[in-house]
Amino acid sequence: MSDLKAKRIITVATTGAWPTKENNPNVPLTPAEIAREIYRCWKEGAAISHIHVRNEDGAASMNYGAFEEIVRLLRTEYGDCDIILNMTTSGGINLNEDDRTRPFFALKPEMATFDCGTMNWQHSAIFENHPKFLERLGALMQEAGVKPEIETFDLGMIYNAAYYLKKGVLKAPLHFQFCMGCPGGIEATTKNLVVMRDTMESVAPGSTWSAFGVGHGAMEMMYAGIAMGGHIRVGMEDNVIYKKGVLAESNMQFVARAKRVIEEYGCEVATPDEARRILNLRAR
Ligand code: ZN
Repeated sequence: MSDLKAKRIITVATTGAWPTKENNPNVPLTPAEIAREIYRCWKEGAAISHIHVRNEDGAASMNYGAFEEIVRLLRTEYGDCDIILNMTTSGGINLNEDDRTRPFFALKPEMATFDCGTMNWQHSAIFENHPKFLERLGALMQEAGVKPEIETFDLGMIYNAAYYLKKGVLKAPLHFQFCMGCPGGIEATTKNLVVMRDTMESVAPGSTWSAFGVGHGAMEMMYAGIAMGGHIRVGMEDNVIYKKGVLAESNMQFVARAKRVIEEYGCEVATPDEARRILNLRAR
């Protein structure tokens, strides 16, 4: 058995809630496009797929039928794909709480997101995660056997996670996603990433973590995250530009680059089964 410490998990976030075909014509939006993209990203080395869906008009959505169709395609047409599914519970702003919880509760992916606090989103809206909702979300995830990916957009959200751990809303070992550089949240700098990681280790020791940066912070967070022993997330949810002045051709392009960086650093890319062991996921 190779050493899991040298393994780095690549999560791909193919779609997100916001990028449009106008931002980048290559962003996958329909269930068929998303499932095919996830399959191709898995072939490039992604171990986890963070999934969002859209309405038929491309708008942000928690459309249950679209989640169901993606899962169906991955289990039939792309049945050899063993990628870990991680469904969003935050497919937009001002969504109904039942719509946010239904996909993971009904479809039982191995993971789903737990956005650990409320924030001013992009200086334009409130991204609401009421304490009562988070308590219910944690309980539903435990009932469904779905591991929360704790998305933290600033330092206070890590302390929130420690509170929910103490209350039993979350169960150790926790897995964090440090979301760096979203307007309204913490800036994507290496110094900030070190503070996030150190805070997590002091209030929730034994946790695992991953990071990504949106926009210009993307590369810094990828290199720093790998060097600091974390896992990484890439994809068009966070960046539609591959490098300055160049639109991304696909999500696979981001995964392939992440794999190259991980290997050049001297680490190895985790397979989905290795990621399951690293993250203590329930057996499939
Ligand atoms: Zn997301």
